[in-house]
Amino acid sequence: MSDNVPSPYRGRFAPSPTGALHFGSLVAALGSWLLARHHDGTWLVRVEDLDPPREVAGAAEQQLATLAAFGLTSDEPVVWQSARHDLYHDALARLLAIGSAFECRCSRSDLAATGGIHRHCVASDPTRTPAIRLHVPDGTIVAFDDGLLGRFEQHLDREVGDVVLRRADGFWAYQLAVVVDDADQRITDVVRGADLLDSTPRQILLQRALALPTPRYLHLPLIVDADGNKLSKSMASLPIDDGAPLPALRAAWEALGQPASVLGGVPDVATAMRFAHREFRPDRLPKVTSLTFAAAHNNPVAGAV
Ligand code: GLU
Repeated sequence: MSDNVPSPYRGRFAPSPTGALHFGSLVAALGSWLLARHHDGTWLVRVEDLDPPREVAGAAEQQLATLAAFGLTSDEPVVWQSARHDLYHDALARLLAIGSAFECRCSRSDLAATGGIHRHCVASDPTRTPAIRLHVPDGTIVAFDDGLLGRFEQHLDREVGDVVLRRADGFWAYQLAVVVDDADQRITDVVRGADLLDSTPRQILLQRALALPTPRYLHLPLIVDADGNKLSKSMASLPIDDGAPLPALRAAWEALGQPASVLGGVPDVATAMRFAHREFRPDRLPKVTSLTFAAAHNNPVAGAV
C-alpha cells in the first residue's frame, strides 16, 4: 500500500463470533487498526453474526472485550449483521430483478461431479427449498492488486462457479453480507487475513453487479501451526489472556514484521499502542500468505500452547 491513500480512509475488523478471539485474529485486528491509524483513518468493528449454527453464545461480547483490552475499540458504534437483514434482502431483490441472481435447488451431492462448482442447475429434487445464487457468466475473470501480495486473479466461472447469496437453509451467505456492509459503511480499505484472499474476486464481482464501489484490499499473513493448519481451527483452545494482554500484543506486533525493540520496555498496553501507532511502518509487513505460529514470534504466548 502506498502512503498516499486518499482520505477519508475507513477500515474495519469483522470477526465472526464462533469462539474466543485467538492470536491469528489479533494479528488481523491489530494490522487493520495500525493501517487505519497510519492513514489517519477511521477504524470500525462489525460483528458478523449471520450464521447461528456456527455461533457460540456470548462469543461476540467476549471478542469485543478482548479487543478492548488492547485498546482496539470501534470509532463508531459496533455494527451487528444480525440487525441488518433488510439491507441484504434489498440487495438480493435487486439482483433477482436484474436477472443476475437465480433460484437453485441443486444439493451438495448433485454438484459432487463438478467438485461443488455450479455452472448449470442439475437438481435431482425439484421440490427442495432453493438457495439463491449469483450468476457467474462463462469466461468471468476478476483480478485485483492486493496491497501486500500484488496481483491476484481468479477465473470465477471455472474455479468458483455461481456464488451462493442466500443458503437453502435461509441464512445469508457471508459473500453477500460482507459486500453490502462494506459499501454501506463506506469502507475504503479492507484489511484481513489471507484466508479470505480467494473470496475477494467474488466480492468484487458482486460489487459490480450491485453497482457498488470496490475498496482496496490488503491480506495479512494467516497464522498457522507447524503443520500448516489455520490457527483458528487447530488451536481454538488458545484464547488471548485479556488480563495480561502485553505478551500477545508484542507477539502480534512482531508477526506484522515490526521491530520487537519498539515494545520491549513498555509498561502497559496503552503505552504499547501509542508506540505501535507511532513506529508502525507498512513497508515492513510480511509479503506472505502465511506465517507459522512459532515463526511469528519467539514468544511467551507460544509457551502456553
Ligand atoms: N467474518 C469473517 C471471518 O471472521 C471475516 C470477514 C472479512 O474480514 O471480510 O472470517
